[in-house]
Amino acid sequence: MSNQDLIPTETLDSLKTLFASSKKILLTTHKSPDGDAIGSSLALFHYLKSQGHNVSVSVPDPLPGFLKWMPGSENLIVFSKNKKKFKEILNDSEIVFSLDYNHFNRTGEEMSKLLSESDALKIMIDHHQSPDDFMKYRVWDVMASSTAQLVWEFIVALSGKTAISKNIGECIYTGIMTDTGSFRFKSCTSHTLRITADLLDIGVRGDLIHQYIYDQNSLNRIHLMGYALENIVLMPEQRTAYIALSKEVLKKFNYKPGDTEGLVNKVLSVEGVDIAALITEKENQIRLSLRSAGDFSVNKLSRKYFNGGGHENAAGGMIKLEFTKAIKYIEDSIKEAVK
Ligand code: 5GP
Ligand code: MN
Repeated sequence: MSNQDLIPTETLDSLKTLFASSKKILLTTHKSPDGDAIGSSLALFHYLKSQGHNVSVSVPDPLPGFLKWMPGSENLIVFSKNKKKFKEILNDSEIVFSLDYNHFNRTGEEMSKLLSESDALKIMIDHHQSPDDFMKYRVWDVMASSTAQLVWEFIVALSGKTAISKNIGECIYTGIMTDTGSFRFKSCTSHTLRITADLLDIGVRGDLIHQYIYDQNSLNRIHLMGYALENIVLMPEQRTAYIALSKEVLKKFNYKPGDTEGLVNKVLSVEGVDIAALITEKENQIRLSLRSAGDFSVNKLSRKYFNGGGHENAAGGMIKLEFTKAIKYIEDSIKEAVK
């Protein structure tokens, strides 16, 4: 997609006018935030602050430990822990950004309601399918490697490459790296790598970022992974495999947010498997993380059966059933879908 298609000239002119004077801005991202959610949010946070705006940044729930090193993360307002503060800031905000999601319900029921009711001007930056139409402006491209890449485009369109500081660069690098499986998915184009190369040129340490994200595992996490991998269930006829983790198992391994990150990709790597699921039992719902190889769309699967969505080859969803019933329902749904 050319830059003109991504941000048409009239939109860019309106955005430049909008941001010409100091604004009160709130940045928001989706539940269970990942490297791209936090990376894109904090990159934009640093940029907008550098332009003289009054910026707050919020997440629905706490971020995983492996993202806590990120520059600016101490500024994050966690909605589930500080609803009052979030409401005050939202009420006071002139502009609200939605980053790495395109339906308010991705922020959870309560936060979603508040965002829908807010009359701040809404801007969305995102790369998921089937966006809602709540926003006045959007920077949206399903082919983009990550929302962080789109934030790079946004900043460069408004202020040029010189506005990309090292802090911004580290956040963007993190988003691109985590959403492309460390630069290996199809979405990682030559353009993505050129952006990444630019980031290295301004001093971003890709080697260290990789270490912070992937090489700081608690022993509990490694043990949980061992358990999970030993308990992969294969559905050979459907070329499907899954792991199901009950509340009890998660408790046994002292589960922390982010501990199951990457597991579903291991499931997909099993020979003969084109559809992979990680099923986890949460407080009052069952979460699904889905991956596919080839043409099978887990986005469509999740929309149809699991109240979710995402991308063609990576999606998520949730169901409200008791754990064993949920597993049966998921197996039956996949059997029906691949028939
Ligand atoms: P993950 O499995 O890594 O949590 O998510 C895979 C992809 O699907 C991500 O791009 C994520 O944003 C999206 N996704 C995860 N859960 C949901 C969901 O409940 N609804 C929608 N629409 N997208 C989801
Ligand atoms: Mn993303």
